[in-house]
Amino acid sequence: MPNQIVKIKCPKCKDVAELSPDFAFVRCEHCNLDISYGDYVKFVAHNDVTYSDILGDYIPSTEGQTHGTLDEWD
Ligand SMILES: [Zn+2]
Repeated sequence: MPNQIVKIKCPKCKDVAELSPDFAFVRCEHCNLDISYGDYVKFVAHNDVTYSDILGDYIPSTEGQTHGTLDEWD
């Protein structure tokens, strides 16, 4: 069974963090984050900005459409 590190978004610096294969810990070498997965979940759950940021990556067209409409009316 391979020990595959899962790349996730760091909740602290928004860079690439690593989730251990057994969900034991989350580490980020960019901001020295080193917490348990349980703490990571709490960190994200209490940080609505991070959630919005993640959702924004999936629906970038909404903002673009708004701007496009405004441009047409301009
Ligand atoms: Zn980080």
